[in-house]
Amino acid sequence: MSTAVETYEFQTETRQLLDLMIHSIYSNKDIFLRELISNSSDALDRLRFEALSKPELLSEGQELHILLETDSKARTITVVDNGIGMSRDELIRLVGTIAKSGTKEFMKALQASKDKAVAPELIGQFGVGFYSSFMVADKVTLVTRRAGEHKATRWESTGDGTYTLEETERAECGTSVTLHLKPADHEDGLHDYTAEWTVRNIVKKYSDFVAYPIKMSIERKEVERDDDGKPKPGAEEKTVTTIETLNSMKAIWLRDKDEVSQDELNEFYKHISHDWTDPLKTIRAKIEGTLEYRVLLFIPSKAPHDLFMREGHRGIHLYVRRVFIMDDCKDLLPDYLRFIRGVVDSEDLSLNVSRELLQQNRQIQRMRKGLISKVLDTLGQMRDQDTGVYEKFWGEFGRVMKEGLFQDAENREKLLGLLQCPSTNSPADLTFLKDYVSRMKEGQDKIYFITGESRRAVENSPHLEAFRDKGYEVLLLTDPVDEVWVQSVFEFQGKQFHSVGKGAVDLGTDEEKKKSEETRKDKEKEFGSLLECLKSKLDEYIKEVRLSTRLTSSPACLVSDEFDPTPQLEMMMKAMNQEMPKVKRILEINPNHPILAKLNDVFAKDKNAPELGDYAELLYGQAVLAEDGQLPDPGGFAKRVAELMLKAIPGS
Ligand code: ADP
Repeated sequence: MSTAVETYEFQTETRQLLDLMIHSIYSNKDIFLRELISNSSDALDRLRFEALSKPELLSEGQELHILLETDSKARTITVVDNGIGMSRDELIRLVGTIAKSGTKEFMKALQASKDKAVAPELIGQFGVGFYSSFMVADKVTLVTRRAGEHKATRWESTGDGTYTLEETERAECGTSVTLHLKPADHEDGLHDYTAEWTVRNIVKKYSDFVAYPIKMSIERKEVERDDDGKPKPGAEEKTVTTIETLNSMKAIWLRDKDEVSQDELNEFYKHISHDWTDPLKTIRAKIEGTLEYRVLLFIPSKAPHDLFMREGHRGIHLYVRRVFIMDDCKDLLPDYLRFIRGVVDSEDLSLNVSRELLQQNRQIQRMRKGLISKVLDTLGQMRDQDTGVYEKFWGEFGRVMKEGLFQDAENREKLLGLLQCPSTNSPADLTFLKDYVSRMKEGQDKIYFITGESRRAVENSPHLEAFRDKGYEVLLLTDPVDEVWVQSVFEFQGKQFHSVGKGAVDLGTDEEKKKSEETRKDKEKEFGSLLECLKSKLDEYIKEVRLSTRLTSSPACLVSDEFDPTPQLEMMMKAMNQEMPKVKRILEINPNHPILAKLNDVFAKDKNAPELGDYAELLYGQAVLAEDGQLPDPGGFAKRVAELMLKAIPGS
C-alpha cells in the first residue's frame, strides 16, 4: 500500500492563529489538555449519537473512553479516544482550516489591535482548542479513523505553516493526538506533562465531570510485603502497571448545590461552550412536578463573535435521564436567548426523541417556557441587585435581547423591564423604562423616543428641540434592531411609545397646548400661501409642508406621518432586499425662524420669483442633512450653497 506523504499549507488565518499560539499569548498552558479532552468527549458524543441510527458503528460491549498515555523518555503525551474520528476530507476541513465565518475579520482585528492581552478570551471563543497544543508542543501528530471507514489518516505539523497527511492504519475508529512536548519551563508555565501527578491534577481540575472515563496507565514500583506492611526480606522491586480512571464522571448538574464549587461550574461551562472565559452568571434549577428536569445554564461574559451570524448559533445540550442526546438543541430556547449555554436533563422525554419532531414536542415546549422564565427572572434579579454586572450583560447582549421584543409577545413586558438605553436625561448613562416613567412630567402620557443611525445624529436632531426646551425626556435608540421593535411594541406600563420624528407634537399642559394651537393657526393664515408654493416646488420629495411645533432653533426638519415607516426602516428593508414603496415625508418649517419671514417677503413681492425654487430646495436639503440623510441631488445642493455664499459674502 502506498503511503505517500503529502504536504499542505495552512490557510492564512490558521497560520496566524498558530503563530499566536506558539508565541504563547496564554499564560495558563495546562488548558491544552482540557481542550483535547473536550474534543475527544465531543467525538464520543457524536459516535454515540450516530450509533442510534447506525448500531453497527458500536461493537457489543464497546466502552467509550479517553486514554492518556505518557512517555517520559520520548517526552510525549497522547490523548486517545475511540470516538467518531475524522475522514481525510474532514481532517483537512476541520483541522487545516478554520472554516468558521468571521475568522478573517477576527484575525485582522487581532493583528491590528496588537493587544495580545485581549487575545486569549477572543481566541477561546473561536473554538481553536486543538491548536492550543502548540503552546506546549513543537510537533503534533494526529492519527484518526472515521467510524464506518477502514482507512486511517496521519496528520503531522510543527506549526510552521504546513502540515503533512499520510494514509495509515488504526485498529479501531477514533483519534489519537500525540504532542511532542517542549522542554518543561516552570517560569513560562510549561509543566512536565509526562508526570503522572501533573496530568492527574489537570484532569481533576478541568475535566472531572466529563461523562466518559479518562483513563491513564499508571506505573508503580512495588515490593512484596508481609502482614505488617513491611517489605519481605529479599523481595525484589517489581513494576506494576494499572489502568486508572482519573475523573469522577459525575454529572455536575446532578450534584447538590453546596457540593459543587463555582470553579467547577466555570470549568464545566468552558468544557461545553469552548469559551475560555468564566461565565458571567450560572443558573441552576431542579424542576419537579408533572414535568421533571434539571437545568444548568450559563450566561457568558462576552458575546461570541458569531452572535449575529446565521450558522454561529449553538444550542443547549440536551440529556434524557443522564444520557446525552444532542449538543445543539435550539428548540429549548428562543432565538433572542441564543447566547445562553448549558445543559437540560429531562426525566420525561423519550430517549429516541427525534431531532425533527422536537419543535412539536409538548414537553420540549413546556420546558422551553420554563427556561425562558428562569433566564428572564434571573436577569431581573441581576438588574435589581447587581447593576454593574447587569450593565455588563446588557452591553454584550442587549442588542440580541431586543429581538425578543418582537419575537416573544408573551414575555414582552418582562423584556421591556430589562431594556436599557440612553436618554436625553443623562446621555452618558443608560436608563430603564421604569425610571423614565417615574421621571415623566405632569400631564405627559407618552414615552418619547428617537431612532437613528448614530448617537451624533440623534442627539443633534432638530426633532428634539421642543422636547429639550420643554424638558421632556427622549430615549435615544441607535441600534438597527430598535427600528424594528418600535414598529411592534406599543406601550409599557400603559404608556404609549411615541417617536419624536413622527406625527404632530403637542407638548405642555392643556392650557399651553391650546395657546400654541391658536398661534399656529394665526401663523398658518400668514404663511399659508407661501407654504403651498414651497410644497409645489418640492412635490417630488414630500407630501406636505407645514408649520412645526417641534422646532425652536432649526429652520426646518423632515417628519414622518404617524403610521409611515421611518427612512431608517426603509433603508433596512432595502438592505434585506425587501422593496417597499418610497413613502414621502412632511417638511416642517419653524414658524419663528427669520428665514420664513424673509421668504414670505420675497413671495409677497413676486409669487413667481425664480429664487423661490432654489430656496425651497435648500431648505429641504438642509433638513435632510440635519438627520444624516442622503441628499437626492448633492451636486445641485452644493451649487446652490455656493451661489448663496457669493451673494452673501460682501466685497467687490
Ligand atoms: P472546536 O472543538 O472548538 O470546534 P478545534 O480546533 O478544537 O475546535 O477542533 C476542530 C474540529 O476538529 C472539531 O470541531 C471536530 O470536528 C474535529 N476534531 C477535533 N478533535 C477531534 C477528535 N478527537 N475526534 C474527532 N474530531 C475531532
